[in-house]
Amino acid sequence: MKLLEERIRQEGLILSDTVLKVDSFLNHQVDTELALEIGREFGRKFAGEPITKVLTIEASGIQFAMATGIALGVPFVYAKKKKAVTLAEEVYSAPVHSFTRQETYQVSVSRKYIGPGDKVLIVDDFLATGAALVGLVQIVKEAGAELVGVGCVIEKTFQEGRGLLEQLGVRIHSLARIRAMSPGEIHFED
Ligand code: 5GP
Repeated sequence: MKLLEERIRQEGLILSDTVLKVDSFLNHQVDTELALEIGREFGRKFAGEPITKVLTIEASGIQFAMATGIALGVPFVYAKKKKAVTLAEEVYSAPVHSFTRQETYQVSVSRKYIGPGDKVLIVDDFLATGAALVGLVQIVKEAGAELVGVGCVIEKTFQEGRGLLEQLGVRIHSLARIRAMSPGEIHFED
């Protein structure tokens, strides 16, 4: 998505070889028109699939899942991050290890909002190590729902996330794919 790549070039701050800061327009302050366009783009990409729910993880996937839900005309659900374990009979949950924070937390979704018969599109802001998305994929499986695919706003292709998801047979569509970066320099995949 050219518009997104241009914006990353203009405003993205590359903090290290692995961390890109985009909080002026994507995940702290949010450019609402860009978020809606991202949702329309995922909607176009997965058009024709009988999606019933969009699933993301709090907090920074929410605006893109909402925009995608609007584009597809379906609800979105966001998984909650909790350290404490909620009653297993009420939620589906999966452990996620955060490499940036060096901690493991539980992500959970109420059993009321995803279930067998749902066709789920997962959406998130970044695909990096893939840990967060693998956790969501596990939740979809546990719920007995069908996973249609994963939409990521920014993928860092030099990290292992795509490989992990592909091993699980997941279809992935990313809107901006970064091959390499270092302070002052960014290279997108062709
Ligand atoms: P994972 O490593 O599980 O693929 O990514 C987990 C989460 O870390 C992403 O959903 C995203 O919120 C955050 N994250 C990963 N890499 C970056 C990055 O380069 N920049 C920012 N701002 N967040 C990131």
